[in-house]
Amino acid sequence: MTDRPVRVRFAPSPTGPLHIGGVRTALYNYLLARKLGGTMILRIEDTDQNRFVPGAEDYIRESLEWVGIELDESPWKGGPHAPYRQSERKPMYREYADQLIRDGYAYYAFDTPEELDVMRERLQAAKVPNPQYNSITRAQMRNSLTLPEDEVKALLASDTPYVIRLKVPRKEEVRFQDMIRGWVVVHSSAIDDKVLMKSDGMPTYHLANIVDDHLMDISHVIRGEEWLPSAPLHVLLYRYLGWEKTMPQFAHLPLLLKPDGTGKLSKRDGDRLGFPVFALEWRGTDAETGEPTLSKGYREEGYLPEALVNFLAFLGWNPGTAQEIFSMQELIEAFSIDRVSKSPAKFDQNKVKWFNEHYLRAKSDAELAPYLLTALNEHGIACTQEKAEQIVGVMKERVSFPQDFWQEAKYFFEAPTTYDEQVVAKKWNPQVAAVLSAYADALPDNSEPSANAEVLKAIFTQTVEDQGMKPGQVLQALRVAATGAAAGPDLFETLAILGTGEVAQRLRAAIERLG
Ligand code: GLU
Repeated sequence: MTDRPVRVRFAPSPTGPLHIGGVRTALYNYLLARKLGGTMILRIEDTDQNRFVPGAEDYIRESLEWVGIELDESPWKGGPHAPYRQSERKPMYREYADQLIRDGYAYYAFDTPEELDVMRERLQAAKVPNPQYNSITRAQMRNSLTLPEDEVKALLASDTPYVIRLKVPRKEEVRFQDMIRGWVVVHSSAIDDKVLMKSDGMPTYHLANIVDDHLMDISHVIRGEEWLPSAPLHVLLYRYLGWEKTMPQFAHLPLLLKPDGTGKLSKRDGDRLGFPVFALEWRGTDAETGEPTLSKGYREEGYLPEALVNFLAFLGWNPGTAQEIFSMQELIEAFSIDRVSKSPAKFDQNKVKWFNEHYLRAKSDAELAPYLLTALNEHGIACTQEKAEQIVGVMKERVSFPQDFWQEAKYFFEAPTTYDEQVVAKKWNPQVAAVLSAYADALPDNSEPSANAEVLKAIFTQTVEDQGMKPGQVLQALRVAATGAAAGPDLFETLAILGTGEVAQRLRAAIERLG
């Protein structure tokens, strides 16, 4: 089916904030869709109303918008297969459950929760390893396969609660080809008779997912490895509904592991290990205590969306070359499912920071200046766009996050009141103080337009020489006297931005304080 239009979907459930693993799944779907000129669909899978979390859908939407994943069809944008929320599609599923019953692939089950408990206990007592409602146990339960036909009719007529279950064959090999894992073969005895329709008339994930993927003409199902165990059941559903010929191709993405590789990266790991596992900050409530909770987000922590995208793309995929920096457009061109790995990918918080530094440095001074200006504004400090650009220009090699500009560049706006003690202990002495004093005197006044870094450096070299010293003996003391800090960007660029009047004043203040 090579000429089939490529239609992929990201199908999150609005049960909480979208984990970055989900963002990666959405990203891979998007990359494949764009690469192959296909369509990217978002479907909200909200059939489990007990797990519905208010705000989760908006959060999913905002997360995807922030990272730059564009949707061609979605609940918000609409499309030829609307509605795109399963709760709004509820009436569409019933007929397929009925069809399965009619064709002998599904059945009504009237067992009460107590009866199901009794079955489980009985199986546990008999040391059955994995007690399930399946091709063996269903024979002892109250369902339309075991009860006489007129009793079934009577139960249905009297509105007795029931579920519809899939009738999984006892001895059959279910096989399908996964684009990442190759042939997957599962014996049907390992599959239980999954509920397809719940007693409230809502379909379960399994039925709704298959019906929608079929009706929406999905060509590829790209999703996390946690769905691999469900895939054989899905294959059976396609077959029994008569849709096997147009069944989508499956690709189950590798798991994301904790940084130390000891198990799956979970929603709670972020807070525990000190890095975000969500694209955006999430304000929720603790399920047990009801207290408000706050989970960190990449956006609020100062990550750029291009850095997160580049990082996530490499969690399970690589281009087969040494190139690491990819824009979204470059990812689209380079991406292929063939190069997605089967083995789990370890999360590496240093790597995402590395990507962030790269993308931050790649921005122009004009693009970065607003970050500093906003922080200055919050602190009531006035600054021109031009000066902010000069500062971020010299600082950008030294920062990892936009908010660092203010932290690292404070001394441009506030004269130091303390001085790095180590440098003072090692480098400060009366001769050095004398050179700095002479330098303060030699600096041209502020209005001198040619007082650029080069000029300031030349005056410094001359002054040092006149005093019979070497630049290396004085440079660090000069920095500490002017900024308070032991390290920073190019010293004479820094002094030029400060302005000669300010520098002279700071040097004299330092000499007075340090003697
Ligand atoms: N609703 C499922 C989820 O929350 C979708 C799984 C799938 O893509 O089939 O991940």
